[in-house]
Amino acid sequence: MAESKSLQQAFIDELRDAYDGEKQMVKALPKMAKTAASPELREAFSTHLEETKGQVARLEEVFAAIGEKVRGKHCDGIAGIIEEGKSIMEEDFDDATMDACLIAAGQRAEHYEMAAYGTLVAWARALGQDDAAELLEETLNEEKAADEKLSALAENGINQEAASGDQTEEEPVSPRKASPKGRSVKKRAASR
Ligand code: FE
Ligand code: ZN
Ligand code: FE
Repeated sequence: MAESKSLQQAFIDELRDAYDGEKQMVKALPKMAKTAASPELREAFSTHLEETKGQVARLEEVFAAIGEKVRGKHCDGIAGIIEEGKSIMEEDFDDATMDACLIAAGQRAEHYEMAAYGTLVAWARALGQDDAAELLEETLNEEKAADEKLSALAENGINQEAASGDQTEEEPVSPRKASPKGRSVKKRAASR
């Protein structure tokens, strides 16, 4: 009879999942940054893209620290979250509403990652792999900070701008930068 798999094996599986998930995010974040109308939101996604590339490299360090070769295993969870994000980006929302929806999609990804890294840190500690735990905790903290940044952007303007767009729909258009993908700029401009 085959031997049952250990927590060490589950830990490696989760690392592979996280590695694949980060690589999927490296591909998805540029499109989110490009779709964002708010310069601050665009900046937040771009900054997190660079951070995410660092997280891929950091996971490679984790594999090295535990003496495992670097390997990914398809992350269905992040794939699903990215899929939902793509559907949102195909919708015809006004700029501020699109930004609010991009934040919602981004935060789903951050929360998924926070859950994954929270588990990875705890398992690394339980397994006595402190070097791996330290590295994973650095990434966990980056994911938390990225999530908080998105909350701040939503709560300090974007949500309200999206909400007030609903009342000022017929205001005249003021000259503003070209709208990505030809979306209407009037609701956003009207609230300025
Ligand atoms: Fe990440
Ligand atoms: Zn996954
Ligand atoms: Fe992230």
